[in-house]
Amino acid sequence: MQTRSQTATTNLVSRKKLHPTFDTLPFDVTRQIIKHLNVGHVIPLLSVCRLFYQMIKPDHDFWRSRLQRDLNVKVSKTNKTMDPFTEIVKRFSSLRCNDCGIMRGPPNRPFVDGFFNLTVCRDCYNHKKYRLITAFTAKKNYFLNEKDLLGLRTVSRINPHYKNGSFVRLYSREAIAEASASKLKKKGITLRERRALQQKRSQATKDRIARDRGPRRGDVGLVV
Ligand SMILES: [Zn+2]
Repeated sequence: MQTRSQTATTNLVSRKKLHPTFDTLPFDVTRQIIKHLNVGHVIPLLSVCRLFYQMIKPDHDFWRSRLQRDLNVKVSKTNKTMDPFTEIVKRFSSLRCNDCGIMRGPPNRPFVDGFFNLTVCRDCYNHKKYRLITAFTAKKNYFLNEKDLLGLRTVSRINPHYKNGSFVRLYSREAIAEASASKLKKKGITLRERRALQQKRSQATKDRIARDRGPRRGDVGLVV
């Protein structure tokens, strides 16, 4: 019969078998898992875990291959003076997406977005949270006015449709939607309900204009 401490030990061992952690995995398995990660994720791991640092940092072949594969930097095997780890660290802040953490070299390197003030890759930038909308759209679709827009971050760009026209002001769509929801909440209505109301009014106006105009030549059912 097992004592209480033996039972606890047995439970701990079986729990570790069911839910293995990096502490319980063999070194080779851990090393292989890390080697499948992008360097943009590996470098932060090294800075928080001494085990990972000791395991991966001295592996020059790994860093050399990652420098070539992830960052598209050509490295000669005969160049003994180049430290591939240092070369990757030098590029860490400029080639790492602040959103997903992946490092990419040319031609898919991340770019600096001036509005959100971060370095971001193309994949992340396509996310709806980075979309910008014009002041006109903010007023028309989100029921905001100039006063509501005053406190929001904005950027001016050349009008793509009218080169000699005034600059367009752009806002974060997320920030606009938030401001709109807050404003409409005070009026006891949601954005969806307000849009439905707008559509109903617009349709009613069209119907009234059509009624006032009367039947036109060529309309179906017109009696001459
Ligand atoms: Zn990204």
